[in-house]
Amino acid sequence: MQFFSREHLRSVFTKPTNYINTNRGEAYYKALYEKMRKRLDELKAMSPVREADIKFEKMLDMWELSRRDFLKWVSATTALLMLPPNFEPLVAEAAEVMNRVPVIWINIQDCDGNSEALLRSSAPTVDELILEYLSLEYHETLMAAAGDQAEEALEKAVHDFKGKYLLFVEGSIPVGMPEAFTIGRHPETGVERVQRLAKDAAAVIAVGACAAFGGIPAAYPNPTGAVGVMDVVKGKPIVNIPACPANPTNMVGVIMHYVLTGELPELDSLLRPKFAFGYRIHDNCERRAHFDAGEFVEEWGDEGAKNNFCLYKMGCKGPFTFNNCSIVRYNDGTNWPIGIGRGCIGCSEPDFWDKYATERPLAASNIRPPGLNGVESTVDQVGLGILTATVIGIGAHAVASLVAGKKSDENNQ
Ligand code: SF4
Repeated sequence: MQFFSREHLRSVFTKPTNYINTNRGEAYYKALYEKMRKRLDELKAMSPVREADIKFEKMLDMWELSRRDFLKWVSATTALLMLPPNFEPLVAEAAEVMNRVPVIWINIQDCDGNSEALLRSSAPTVDELILEYLSLEYHETLMAAAGDQAEEALEKAVHDFKGKYLLFVEGSIPVGMPEAFTIGRHPETGVERVQRLAKDAAAVIAVGACAAFGGIPAAYPNPTGAVGVMDVVKGKPIVNIPACPANPTNMVGVIMHYVLTGELPELDSLLRPKFAFGYRIHDNCERRAHFDAGEFVEEWGDEGAKNNFCLYKMGCKGPFTFNNCSIVRYNDGTNWPIGIGRGCIGCSEPDFWDKYATERPLAASNIRPPGLNGVESTVDQVGLGILTATVIGIGAHAVASLVAGKKSDENNQ
């Protein structure tokens, strides 16, 4: 097992302050509402990118989604974007004009899991419909065209929508072994492809742990020298939507924010949208009460596991991981890893495979604590000291809770 140096952890966790302000006051929301209203009116006045424009209502019918399904999605998406309920009509309108924003989606060194996450739900969802309704000009996995025909479609989209398209990148970029990924009749490496297409994009959206931070291909010993998009693209707005896979709800949330404002959402120091990555998984975990009560799974299949106790002692990294999957879950809200009894592996954090994806608590690692500054911090406030204090604090809390639990048992007896 590779452990990271203090310097490495410090570089990851000591960043400018991240602060989520969920109530910015009446004047702010009034100005934001007017800005979104103006943007939507401009988009409505534009023609759809594709000539054969299918009305959104008709798409709902074709996908056998009811107006009620759509309105439920609108409410959830408005809340996801941390907007007040009076913004719901704007979010509904934004969904209907999404075919005005061209999207190019490329895959580099990846498993296509993020596209799969968006597409493979048990029943059609509004999120899937949004992907269908978007002006998706190029997606290697989804498009019918292949070979030269596909490459021509890509070049045409880049030419026609220069400076306007959103570039989605899925997969890491092998800079240490560029020949590990080449594509096209005139082979282009991953780094060449990402840099060339990013040059004319309005913004670049790195989807999944690999595109954001290198992900599993970048795990030790990282044979291809895999890195994330932000390591090779400079001078462009970039959003990271990490996790393995990225949650489709967050992908759609970023697109919706762009359609509504023409801008990217507020980001943390790791370029992740704060609306999705502003809270720790531990803060909203359904097993948190068991953590506080000192009730832990001690080994797989024990009574604690059968009773959905906390998974911290089985290596859950929820206390160190910033993501909203404990709230929005996966597969249209069906379930999520901790819900099915497997601890969090921290897949939305940099270097997660080496640092977090182990079946041992971090408190058992060889990181030394330099100080105690409390445990309730956001990722950007978590310096190495606070991070390790969190480890120690959680370890101490776990022990204290365990003692409390045992005392309670004795009293009961
Ligand atoms: S340690 Fe993991 S399972 Fe336990 S409450 Fe925190 S996030 Fe949930």
